[in-house]
Amino acid sequence: MCAAPLNEPTFRQSVDLMFNRAAALMDLPPGLEQKIRVCNATYTVRFGVRLRGQIHTFTGYRAVHSEHMEPVKGGIRYSAAVDQDEVEALAALMTYKCALVEAPFGGSKGGLCIDPREYDEHELELITRRFAYELIKRDLINPSQNVPAPDMGTGEREMAWIADQFARMNTTDINARACVTGKPLNAGGIAGRVEATGRGVQYALREFFRHPEDVAKAELSGGLDGKRVIVQGLGNVGYHAARFLSEEDGALITGIIERDGALYDPKGLDVGRVHEWLVRHGGITGYPDANSVADGAAVLAAECDILIPAALEGVINLSNAHDIQAKLILEAANGPITAGADDILRTRGKVIIPDLYANAGGVTVSYFEWVKNLSHIRFGRMQRRQEEARHQLVVDELQRLDLMLGDAWSLTPSFKEKYLRGADELELVRSGLDDTMRIAYQSMREVWHGRDDVTDLRTAGFIVAIDRVARSYRAKGL
Ligand code: GLU
Repeated sequence: MCAAPLNEPTFRQSVDLMFNRAAALMDLPPGLEQKIRVCNATYTVRFGVRLRGQIHTFTGYRAVHSEHMEPVKGGIRYSAAVDQDEVEALAALMTYKCALVEAPFGGSKGGLCIDPREYDEHELELITRRFAYELIKRDLINPSQNVPAPDMGTGEREMAWIADQFARMNTTDINARACVTGKPLNAGGIAGRVEATGRGVQYALREFFRHPEDVAKAELSGGLDGKRVIVQGLGNVGYHAARFLSEEDGALITGIIERDGALYDPKGLDVGRVHEWLVRHGGITGYPDANSVADGAAVLAAECDILIPAALEGVINLSNAHDIQAKLILEAANGPITAGADDILRTRGKVIIPDLYANAGGVTVSYFEWVKNLSHIRFGRMQRRQEEARHQLVVDELQRLDLMLGDAWSLTPSFKEKYLRGADELELVRSGLDDTMRIAYQSMREVWHGRDDVTDLRTAGFIVAIDRVARSYRAKGL
């Protein structure tokens, strides 16, 4: 893919430049800007695991960016590109993301420098448990101090191993399950966490399109229906976002970019089928029902209404920012646009829905999972039937009216069934996520529209987030 050119700042520097742009417009007490920006600590661990008859040494990191709220929160990434700069950039983004969506956490991130495709399941379990052991014994995994989650290259399976490892090492901790989020349902997870980031992307776009003034800034009009969308990366985030947008909002996924090329169809791709192909064949090469383009990165610059980079950082950089044709870019990945590219796109009048907001659905539902684990009860368990019973009263009254009025009026056939059903955990999670995404967008938009010196959503988002972090520092007496 399009690696950032050498003359660009590193990922961490890029995040700091974006931070600086916003902080320069704020009136922070002397020294506080620097205190918020820096990464508090990064722990590097090198550990050995005996595999295939010899000891292999692995390098892992856990960066803690800000402890203005604890626990700190952020995923663990498995990728050969993981290094200290990357985890620190990602940890910083977690701080701002959590502040923006009001998830009561500081920011953290972990990474293991490994290509998970090179190991079988048993080997990955040994490696994950050993990495978790190293972090747990230093309280870098702990329900009240540091709570990891999935990220690129990890998922429910790895989180279950980590949770189990923590439980083995803390046999009397009643809150052990809250030490990590993104677990499978049967290991203390929550309904809707797997698809949460993709769902959050959908809710973010829906909220954006609820504001015609904002839509007009992107030189677009109308709603999501019929909009042409290009998605880069059909991993957990990109796949769910593309699927929801096409199946539920009528958007056309005209392009999908993957590691081995891109697929293009102006009439819209069948996301489910492409994903099935990808899982079965390990790539999109050979997919029969679309035009394929060998140079996948070139499709980033293809004509479309909305571009959704949903994989790696730095894919939109100084080398291609001038060519991007999409009017609206939504950052489903963390840091897909470098600071330099951000300047170019802003000058070109592109509207960017920034990562610290756009991909916050994951950590939002992680927050719900953590609360569920600490309260030891499934959401909705107490109130669901009571809600149904109260709704039944209304339905009974309406049915009486229906009988009395004869042909003049009758209940809509599906009303009774829909109205009676009390919300289950998944519905509550979606409602909480939708509300979070709407409110966070509105807080950014207030700054975007309310200040002449703020011309983009990213700066607005950073201002909201930095202000909240600054307030909690002040409340601590710092
Ligand atoms: N890794 C995800 C992110 O970058 C989720 C973090 C979490 O749930 O703690 O936001």
